[in-house]
Amino acid sequence: MRTEQLSTPCYVVDESLLVRNLDILRGVMDRTGCRILLAQKAFSMYALYPLIGQYLSGTAASGLYEARLGREEMDKENHVFSPGYRNEDFDEIVSLCDHIIFNSFSQLEKFKNRALRAGKSVGLRINPAYSTQEGHELYDPCAPGSRLGVTRENFRPDRLDGVEGLHFHTLCEQDAAPLVRTVEAVEEQFGPWLPRMKWLNFGGGHHITREGYDLAALEACIHRVQETYGVQVYLEPGEAVALNAGFLVTTVLDTFRNGIDIAILDTSAACHMPDVLEMPYRPPLLGAGIPDEKPYTYRLGGPTCLAGDVIGDYSFDRPLAPGDRLTFGDMAIYSMVKNNTFNGMPLPSIALRNADGDCKLLHRFGYNDFKCRLS
Ligand SMILES: *Cc1c(COP(=O)(O)O)cnc(C)c1O
Repeated sequence: MRTEQLSTPCYVVDESLLVRNLDILRGVMDRTGCRILLAQKAFSMYALYPLIGQYLSGTAASGLYEARLGREEMDKENHVFSPGYRNEDFDEIVSLCDHIIFNSFSQLEKFKNRALRAGKSVGLRINPAYSTQEGHELYDPCAPGSRLGVTRENFRPDRLDGVEGLHFHTLCEQDAAPLVRTVEAVEEQFGPWLPRMKWLNFGGGHHITREGYDLAALEACIHRVQETYGVQVYLEPGEAVALNAGFLVTTVLDTFRNGIDIAILDTSAACHMPDVLEMPYRPPLLGAGIPDEKPYTYRLGGPTCLAGDVIGDYSFDRPLAPGDRLTFGDMAIYSMVKNNTFNGMPLPSIALRNADGDCKLLHRFGYNDFKCRLS
């Protein structure tokens, strides 16, 4: 069917836009020999894993369930990092994953032998305590008091037995220059132990597929690290894989005025795009402008009871009316994976659009998806 025929709210992921990103990532792999994994936490639409697996080296997981999804649906290299593994999960994690990355020396010592006995590669997450983002503490693993990664101060070179790789993840939606500076900070603090490692994982947060990203600087950095230390470099971007590859199609339910013009949509910021409130950010809306750029400005909000369930203020060429359809952009990442049914909100359907513009409805959710989680 065509996009216009989908009932709303519905996520539509566009295969050609995804492939455009995958081509760029594949180019980085081909030119540098690095390996790139999909960080599933950003995008777990597993119907696309076979396609993604044609381009990337595998999946990165944050725990047992993502590890299992990666193994079941892509079945390539599967890496896992968690700040805390549960004893009862660990043997299954070992059976599913190739690289198992620990967040502390205590977790490393508690579990590493079970991983090593199974022939798995064991890694440690380090924290260079080198912040490259400002005013963004929710997304800064290098903030003071961070619970993510071992800092140089707490690093114990005498306890590295069995550790084959180091992992850092400190960036968020950033260009190559902050990565280059971060790698220098890592070398300054952890350089003496890099030559004995087999791999170094640069984490995610690389906005590689964004217009204007400095690919040459990224590739030079990867080359230099691989040549200097003899390590295999890994990247595990989430955002960059599906950046701008998906949409959320919604319908206007009502419009009215309270000092400003307001439109209520059948989608919710709190339930269907929580990053709009958490980051916060303003999602692109196709055909709309910033407030007052076009003649009719509306505040767009959801149908929940949360007063702040507001997506943002947008302007339009014509007044909005109930039944109008609106399409938000960049809705593939950190959307489906973060959905919730607060207020009894239905979950948006999930559709895939192919290169001909044909849409296939992959999943429609219903009342039971709401009810089954509540007792
Ligand atoms: C979140 C995360 C990623 C992916 O980050 P993006 O910003 O989506 O690229 C990769 N690795 C780890 C350890 C993460 O926590």
